[in-house]
Amino acid sequence: MRRIAILTSGGDAPGMNSAIRALTRKAIHEGFEVFGIERGYLGIMEEQFIPLSNRSVGGIITQGGTMLKTARFPEFQNEDIQRKAYDILKAHGINHLIVIGGDGSMRGATSLAELGMSTMTIPCTIDNDMGGTQYTIGFDTALNTVVDAVGRIRDTSNSHERVAIVEVMGRKSGHIALKAGLACGAEIVLVPENPMPLHEVCRHLKETQIRGKEYSVILVAEGAYNSGEVKSYIKKHTEFDPSLTVLGYLQRGGGPSAFDAILAARMSETCIDLLMNGTDNRLLGYIDGHIRPISYQEAELLDFPINEKDYTLLSILSS
Ligand code: ADP
Repeated sequence: MRRIAILTSGGDAPGMNSAIRALTRKAIHEGFEVFGIERGYLGIMEEQFIPLSNRSVGGIITQGGTMLKTARFPEFQNEDIQRKAYDILKAHGINHLIVIGGDGSMRGATSLAELGMSTMTIPCTIDNDMGGTQYTIGFDTALNTVVDAVGRIRDTSNSHERVAIVEVMGRKSGHIALKAGLACGAEIVLVPENPMPLHEVCRHLKETQIRGKEYSVILVAEGAYNSGEVKSYIKKHTEFDPSLTVLGYLQRGGGPSAFDAILAARMSETCIDLLMNGTDNRLLGYIDGHIRPISYQEAELLDFPINEKDYTLLSILSS
């Protein structure tokens, strides 16, 4: 019987469990034997292989995090370690390795593919910062979490007529900040791709006040500015004394949204179908509403940056 191994790697994201469950059940349905590898690439080296069955992945679909645990293992960039990992996978009779994670995790899969391992990558990170796909599993859930949290912060900043700064995740990308800003009606969004200078932010706040707005919400993507410095700058250069909330890991937790859970199910189905048809070493990309197999090389080049039109729309709508 052909063997599939699944691992989760990098930052955890809501929907990882949905993907583990869907991959396992679809693969078993198609006659594969399935193993989980605990703690990402580190788990290969430590031979933490566990058999997965329809029952062992029961009850996890709505749970956040990953039942397989995840780990950062930077040593995996070393070619000798990659070779050892390849040998261990072969010694365990693994025919295909499915990696669930972000762009770093995909690079790990690419290295193993170059050594001759058959791999697939399911994009899963809240940051939505991977090439080759317009959506990563976990992004939609994180957006909903941010929108909910900002709504609560807005209630209190409205009552106190204060400026509220909210720092959100996204690494070097402004996807979470911009999309959440559109969804929750933030007055200003600071993204790493094109950060508004802080003197402009102050000017904008003063204009907003003149227009009769008693409070403003500023979303700061973690890669754009140090949010503490944004707070100090505004305090120093205006009469505002902003509150600061760092949402942090709150954004990574929680069960997946329906969109993320369904995306995980569909990508998993396509992934196993592709393997059965002899296609491997692909990222499952979500492009214009369709799930497409994207070669790792293409994924590295096919960037989906933040939409500048969203930025313009946000400023029109926050007037
Ligand atoms: P993400 O997958 O969420 O982007 P990381 O960038 O931390 O998270 O990558 C997760 C893991 O993938 C790393 O800890 C490492 O084990 C592996 N990895 C990252 N980059 C590479 C690379 N260039 N080559 C091989 N393995 C990598």
